[in-house]
Amino acid sequence: MLGLAERRHDVTAAKNQIGIHVTEHEEVEGRWHLPSAYDAHMTRIRLLEGDITRQDTDAVVNAANPSLFGGGGVDGAIHRAGGPTILDACREIRRTSHPDGLPTGDAVATTAGGLRARWVIHTVGPVYGTVPNPAELLARCHVSSLRVADELGARSVAFPAISTGVYGYPIDEAARVAIRTVRDARTNVEEVRFVLFGADAFAAFDDALTNG
Ligand code: ADP
Repeated sequence: MLGLAERRHDVTAAKNQIGIHVTEHEEVEGRWHLPSAYDAHMTRIRLLEGDITRQDTDAVVNAANPSLFGGGGVDGAIHRAGGPTILDACREIRRTSHPDGLPTGDAVATTAGGLRARWVIHTVGPVYGTVPNPAELLARCHVSSLRVADELGARSVAFPAISTGVYGYPIDEAARVAIRTVRDARTNVEEVRFVLFGADAFAAFDDALTNG
């Protein structure tokens, strides 16, 4: 049985061997975290420093707001990159199943428009500091998104660091919740790829995956 420091070293060494090139596009270069010993329930968890709009997973998760009408951050990037059919589908969801908006912690799917993914799964994270139970709500975002992915038959799903932008969730805390929740989830999704914007976010998830 390896000690924690040794295991961490092994993972880092292996990660470096794998290299950082994910596709031909410079912006999506990133570092992969080896799943191996850290997996549970056959769902591989991978970390990538990059742009979620460029992912080739079956589904990408959008950190949406309750209106589903787009916004800044990941939300704006997904709508810009995927084109207007995503917003059309969101409007239809508002007209039919969610006239009052999408509650925090819930998730719904739409087309991914021109993205490489087939579906966008929209979920609404908690606004940190405004609810008594942010971790529970953030966990629910991940569980709901994976449930929707299972209903769609998606086998690979890319998540951003939900709530850690304008919604103000501290990245280290959010990383621990996200990793723990996905590890414990019962899902048919084979790969969960956390796509982190910037080295600090990547480091937080790397730490949560290795030490959490
Ligand atoms: P929220 O409102 O849930 O906080 P944001 O979109 O403001 O959502 O931010 C969530 C996280 O997504 C932040 O860590 C932000 O840096 C990151 N982010 C922003 N754009 C992208 C992108 N294109 N790909 C991946 N992550 C992104």
